[in-house]
Amino acid sequence: MYQRIVVKFGTSLLTGGTRHFQLARMVELVRQCAELRQMGKEIIICSSGAIAAGRERLGFPELPNTIIHKQMLAAVGQSRLMRMWENLFEIYETHVGQMLLTRADVEIRSRFLNARDALHTMLEYRIIPIFNENDAVATAEIKVGDNDNLSALVALLAEADLLILLTDQAGLYTADPRSNPDATLIPRVETIDESVYRLAGKSVSGLGTGGMVTKIQAADVARRGGTEVVIAAGKEPNVITRLVKGEALGTHFAALETPLDNRKRWIFGGTTPSGGIIVDQGAARALRHKNSSLLPSGITKIEGDFGRGDTVSIRDQDGSELARGMTRYNSEDLQRIKGCQSDEIAERLGYAYGAVVIHRNDLILV
Ligand code: GLU
Repeated sequence: MYQRIVVKFGTSLLTGGTRHFQLARMVELVRQCAELRQMGKEIIICSSGAIAAGRERLGFPELPNTIIHKQMLAAVGQSRLMRMWENLFEIYETHVGQMLLTRADVEIRSRFLNARDALHTMLEYRIIPIFNENDAVATAEIKVGDNDNLSALVALLAEADLLILLTDQAGLYTADPRSNPDATLIPRVETIDESVYRLAGKSVSGLGTGGMVTKIQAADVARRGGTEVVIAAGKEPNVITRLVKGEALGTHFAALETPLDNRKRWIFGGTTPSGGIIVDQGAARALRHKNSSLLPSGITKIEGDFGRGDTVSIRDQDGSELARGMTRYNSEDLQRIKGCQSDEIAERLGYAYGAVVIHRNDLILV
């Protein structure tokens, strides 16, 4: 059974391919999410539909097909979309929180950490985070572009064990099922290569941005981070609850087997350390042998100027590098909290990003 699940709802699913949102469909999706949450599962939603909701709200105006007009529609529609989700989740006494991201929010390390911390805090308080791209401000250069890929980034942020991409097709077929009656559903894909992309063809649905190709791209990103991915039909009865219980619906993409290493590689991807943290013998031993996180108490010296989210080199008293990791505090903060107990951080800085300086999951031993 899966525990932490990202579910992506596309515009076509929420509107049933029409110009209007189908509340009956949405309430059905909400019921399943609420039921899983009741069972103690952690549910994270990635919902498209801001632009469609804006169009509906403004009475389907004739507009030029430019980014700026889409941004306007998204600005009008996003709040409406959230209001719909909020009202529906209220039926199940479940709170939701809005998270709007652009590509920069996952690529710039400090922002990545902020988004990840906010997401994990919501989960801790049993709030269902609802993600969308921040369309109103996202220009072409900083846009993820489609919510399939966005949901894969969310799965990485969340360290989810399952990503469900709900769409209007039952999954990936051996050929386009709309034109080829012999097409059969592929139940499981072990690895994603060119041939898989070829199967996905050029299928695009009417209202959203994505299609099968962006779903395969998303599946590839998520599975490299250790998340299993499934593409399935949103209108299949109880599709979310059945998938979470392990039923073989739709097309499953196997997660790569060493998720943590892959996730770390993704987090660190080729960066050279921006500075150094020197630790005492006790901390060095704990990092090497006890799988511990780095706490301020074990830090004796800070070298260089670096920011929150930067990759730094952790060295022992002799100067030899023992690990690299992503720091939650910048060098200036660390100068003030080095050697102190974690519960003194807030007092010394006036704020705190948590008890650890570098979390175990953000650290690789060298
Ligand atoms: N972010 C867009 C919206 O909410 C949808 C992007 C997509 O369809 O993938 O309207």
